[in-house]
Amino acid sequence: MALIVQKYGGTSVANPERIKNVAQRVAKFRAQGHQVVVVVSAMSGETNKLIALAKEISPSPDPRELDQVCATGEQVTIGLLSMALKEIGVPARSYTGGQVKVLTDSVFTKARILSIDEGNMRRDLDAGRVVVVAGFQGVDADGNVTTLGRGGSDTSGVALAAALKADECQIYTDVDGVYTTDPRVVPEARKLDAITFEEMLEMASLGSKVLQIRSVEFAGKYKVKLRVLSSFQDEGEGTLITVEEDRNMEQPIISGIAFNRDEAKLTLLGVPDKPGIAYQILGAIADANIDVDMIIQNVGHDDTTDFSFTVNRGDFVKAQGILEKVKVELGARQVTGDHKICKVSAVGVGMRSHPGVASRMFKALADEGINIRMISTSEIKISVVLDEKYLELAVRVLHRTFGLDQPV
Ligand code: ADP
Ligand code: ASP
Ligand code: MG
Repeated sequence: MALIVQKYGGTSVANPERIKNVAQRVAKFRAQGHQVVVVVSAMSGETNKLIALAKEISPSPDPRELDQVCATGEQVTIGLLSMALKEIGVPARSYTGGQVKVLTDSVFTKARILSIDEGNMRRDLDAGRVVVVAGFQGVDADGNVTTLGRGGSDTSGVALAAALKADECQIYTDVDGVYTTDPRVVPEARKLDAITFEEMLEMASLGSKVLQIRSVEFAGKYKVKLRVLSSFQDEGEGTLITVEEDRNMEQPIISGIAFNRDEAKLTLLGVPDKPGIAYQILGAIADANIDVDMIIQNVGHDDTTDFSFTVNRGDFVKAQGILEKVKVELGARQVTGDHKICKVSAVGVGMRSHPGVASRMFKALADEGINIRMISTSEIKISVVLDEKYLELAVRVLHRTFGLDQPV
């Protein structure tokens, strides 16, 4: 008998029929003698609808109240799934994040999980019940409802699996595993049988939304066995996220191409070139809880320099406002910005032992006449910032250049 945590995403619970299918799948595992904890997302599109609704009331909604609104999506699905389970004779009980309880910090809309109380869940499991938990949400020390950021149900699933020391965490979604790139953009993309934590972390952080990055961090840290599978297929092993040594296949140089349309670039021109500048600029941005991604400081000339960085597109206007203030404080010349950019990245642990990946990538883009606006590299990834209009072309070209559409 194993303890399995299964997470079902929005499309997997999009309507009553699909919720009934999820109930059948859960029942099947239970009939095999396993204990099952199920984490569900809101029905697909529901969180977007709730955010849009909030924005009709307030263009930049109060984060605490926004979480209060957004958390309701998942509360609907836990109730419906528990009913569906009971209808087919499976005892089940639903819990909101607060009822579990999933304790988080108080950073509304992107809270981090601090601890999980497993008491209620253990009691139910011991009594033979399936436990159904709302993903994406928690509660802070003062009892406020919090949410974990978009795609956060993945993290709820993995965190519950870690807390319960589950044998496996299964992420059921609308694709049958992790692919070499988003199969909706490149139909030739191939499913990977396994991918290392390191690579999956990079893929997730660089835009592959099949897993939320924090879920991968959690799984790596707490050694959760993590698998991505389709909720629409009965067969298939999906993709196992593994540690490098366990992957018994030849190491490809590049495992996947990730991309992110959700980027914006800001530049402060004519900044005095002296110590502490980066801190003054980025400190102000960090104080506003805005994550900064790529950073470039140009070589100074005439005692001034230009300083560029990228942020999430949703934070663009806010960051621009902050930079206007910083500009005055520092006596810089001008703030410029561009929100029609994207980031495309090649990821692979094989890069460590194969030089020349970057030049192959740059040549492939140059051959298509695609201009690179920013570059950043790490040991296992190369990212480029491009004009947004080149996104699909760049992804397809790089996928082909690194032979990812060829069977291994
Ligand atoms: P869920 O609602 O189940 O959480 P998501 O929409 O968040 O599902 O994530 C699944 C989607 O992630 C897929 O439909 C696919 O379009 C996208 N995706 C992006 N990159 C990849 C990738 N490398 N492999 C598989 N899917 C990917
Ligand atoms: N419902 C939330 C979202 O749409 C969480 C999730 O689906 O993982 O972002
Ligand atoms: Mg998701």
